[in-house]
Amino acid sequence: MKVLKGISANAGLAKGIATVYSEEIEENIPHYMIEEEKIENEITRLKEAYGKTKIAIEQMLKVSEEIFGKTGEEILTAHSTILEDEALFEEIVSIIKKRLINAEHAVNDVFDAYQERFKHKDFHFSEITHDIVDVRNRILSSFDGLSGRFECTINERQPVIVVSERLSPSMVLNISQSDVLAFVTEEGGLTSHATILAQNFGVPIVFGINIKNNIECGDKVIVDASLGKVIVKPDKKTKKYYNRKIEKAEKRKQFCMVKEEIPTQTKKGLRLALKANISLKAEIKMLEGLNYDGVGLLRSEFLFANRHKAPSEEDWFKVYKNIAETADGKNVNIRLLDISGDKMPKYLHLPLAGNHDLGIRGARAIEIFDDMYQSQTKAILRASVYGNVRLLYPMISDVSDIESFRELRKKAESVLRKEKKKYKKDIKEGIMIETPAAAVMAGTLIKYVDFANIGSNDLLQYTLAASRTNQIIEKRYHILHPSLVRLMEIIVRETRKYKKEICLCGEIASFEEFYPLFLSLGIKSFSVEASKLSDIKCNLLHVGVPDKSLVNKFYENLKKDDIEKFFKR
Ligand code: PEP
Ligand code: MG
Repeated sequence: MKVLKGISANAGLAKGIATVYSEEIEENIPHYMIEEEKIENEITRLKEAYGKTKIAIEQMLKVSEEIFGKTGEEILTAHSTILEDEALFEEIVSIIKKRLINAEHAVNDVFDAYQERFKHKDFHFSEITHDIVDVRNRILSSFDGLSGRFECTINERQPVIVVSERLSPSMVLNISQSDVLAFVTEEGGLTSHATILAQNFGVPIVFGINIKNNIECGDKVIVDASLGKVIVKPDKKTKKYYNRKIEKAEKRKQFCMVKEEIPTQTKKGLRLALKANISLKAEIKMLEGLNYDGVGLLRSEFLFANRHKAPSEEDWFKVYKNIAETADGKNVNIRLLDISGDKMPKYLHLPLAGNHDLGIRGARAIEIFDDMYQSQTKAILRASVYGNVRLLYPMISDVSDIESFRELRKKAESVLRKEKKKYKKDIKEGIMIETPAAAVMAGTLIKYVDFANIGSNDLLQYTLAASRTNQIIEKRYHILHPSLVRLMEIIVRETRKYKKEICLCGEIASFEEFYPLFLSLGIKSFSVEASKLSDIKCNLLHVGVPDKSLVNKFYENLKKDDIEKFFKR
């Protein structure tokens, strides 16, 4: 038996068989033989993949000047040259024909040989090998259906403990929820978007586990995520202990489900707003039968994330209409696309290089992707006819950012009028407060809009200068860092007199133990992952009267260990 200790990203217990998942493109290239009559089919698939790659590179060239200037252009031009190399293309076609292998396999072999030719040359030429690998990966990822895979077969299609080096949004989007009992990974981040998506599987998640030398396909594993523990090949005594613990947890779940009808309030009856964050269309279904207060944050970035072509106005409209109708009159805050490092839909074709978290975000993306924002805004406005839709503007740093989104709205409204399409004229507007700039200026910004969401995930990453996908942040700092609490205090204080809703919607809102502190800060509206809503509500029913002095006591605990002890009191 081995007991491994990591960091919990979603509490819960699970026991099952480990299955290793690999996302590495090199390891996932399908290799298979084809029959002679399938040759033409493979060549067509190859041409299509080349075509998609060409479009992607062309679109990137369009935007790269604004992002990287000359350097970006040079890299992408080099990529185009490789892609247009007819001899290379013909070589791939020829080995498909000669060796009767699938197109992905052929691309891989030809590009490998091509790369080898440059490897031993001088520095300038060896640099080209990076471009070759980049282009190869782009072509391979343009083949439909290429994604990560399980290294061992899923045990008779029973749900398994998924073990992998890291979670990525595309991996989570590619795995079926019913196949998973828990996620165990080496790398991770509490607020990364892959974690957020995986949380909606409602299963335990632990990262920071050394997998390589400890877990193999087929191992029996117990995951006790509340303690960040992963137990490999448990002994008899441990199994017995956990069987009882799992039974108890099941009972608590049933107990909370009984309370689902009650509106969210504290022990003394202080009414709070508890809303849901939604990233995928299916998540709205999780809320059926629950007494919740609306969708606090509808993330648009994952709705069509794996498509190569941007969704049309109709595509957006159908999803938004469906969610607005399902929410049944409750407000639904639809956020305009907020691209960032780990939520980058494939259809936007931004260059892979560069730090997108500090570059094209929020309003800065509107000009570059004007068409996409137009169709999205029009779709949101049209969906307003079917429910209580509100517009949510991402990554606001100053008033001009709000104005840019307003202009977008105005233009969309004017086109809709010309097209004689219906929309509501009085849709409310809100902003995400998720940069330190917006937090300290919250009192000014709130005057321009109807409500605000505190996006603590980004607010934390920008305040600490620590990427949310990097687990250093969790190892070193507490997710409720005192600087973040201070910024939330400023936001609440500066906006109080305007009496507008301030809703906390980052991942910290999913930690039940933080609620006494949130309430003492004066926050009364929260939005959590749909899968967490029932549990959080169940806990809030036991929270007492807010203790105003709690915030000051909290600031006395400045180090991670002290903060952990503070919440365990
Ligand atoms: C946040 O930053 O806290 C937030 C809710 O937005 P997202 O996680 O989508 O960046
Ligand atoms: Mg954010």
